[in-house]
Amino acid sequence: MPDCQHGLIADETETDDESIIGDEAHIVARSDDGPRGVSDLTPEDRDKYDNLVLLCRKHHKIVDDQPGFYTVEKLKEIKALHEAWVKESLHLDKEKEKDDLNYASYIDTIAKTFDFDSWDGWTSSLVSHGQPSIRYKKLKELQTIPNFIVSRFWPKRYEELEASIFNLKNVLNDLIKVFYKYADEGAIDKAKETDEDRTIRTRKFYKIDEWNPELYNKLSEKFDYHVSLVEDLALEMTRAANLVIEKIRKYISPKYREEEGKLLMTSGPHMDFSWKTFKVEYKTDEKKENHPYHGLKSFMTERAGRDLHYGEGVDTHYLPKRFEP
Ligand SMILES: [Zn+2]
Repeated sequence: MPDCQHGLIADETETDDESIIGDEAHIVARSDDGPRGVSDLTPEDRDKYDNLVLLCRKHHKIVDDQPGFYTVEKLKEIKALHEAWVKESLHLDKEKEKDDLNYASYIDTIAKTFDFDSWDGWTSSLVSHGQPSIRYKKLKELQTIPNFIVSRFWPKRYEELEASIFNLKNVLNDLIKVFYKYADEGAIDKAKETDEDRTIRTRKFYKIDEWNPELYNKLSEKFDYHVSLVEDLALEMTRAANLVIEKIRKYISPKYREEEGKLLMTSGPHMDFSWKTFKVEYKTDEKKENHPYHGLKSFMTERAGRDLHYGEGVDTHYLPKRFEP
């Protein structure tokens, strides 16, 4: 009965099987003088699946008291519609299960490659000492993520979740690009895949041999801008990753990182040998957009409005040629 909310089966307990609390009602009555009883059906066929419906007690009484409305045709139609609904629901459940498994496996790879579990550890060198650096091995791992994300068979079931993952990918892409601009290429060239401990540092390109205060100042300013941009992108990447975690909790697994919590960043040691830990997140209005990160050019300006930022202003040298005036 489409509007009936009564359960027909009580769940099993630890010690007992489930209990059928609904009634197995006859469409054509068991005997000729029962409701809808006039029929060619043999007594044997009257007890078979085709002639039975599972109803709650209340509706069992109603359909048997009102056989003029609840005719054989009517009951068969109700039964057929319900069977179709169950079949469709089970199918949808299966599809959802399949999609959720896909998501879970992609997310697992992304979380492992990014190393969510020691996020503040490996990101720390990007926001410390005024000279961003990163382990060569980590850099190589991070570089595999964008292609992995782009080439997955995304189910398109949870658009917000997928958008947050692509948002994270866009930030990572730009962070890698910007970091490489002044990375110590010599160290990259010399590095081998097995060089787990080699660190790639930002080149101190303001150090010049000649005495030229004007050039030195200009380069120092450029260096400071670069360091801040890398730091700001590292912060943005943390925001983007926290947004992904939020969407995973919303759509896939409500308990995801329940114990570990949000991703934090740590910088230090500072002049006074202290370490600073901070949390960065998109603000509520920033989160209203599927892609809060609008690309490098916009970010150079928009970072000033984020919850934390180190630098500001646009430097077109970082942008593809077509953006230059
Ligand atoms: Zn009912």
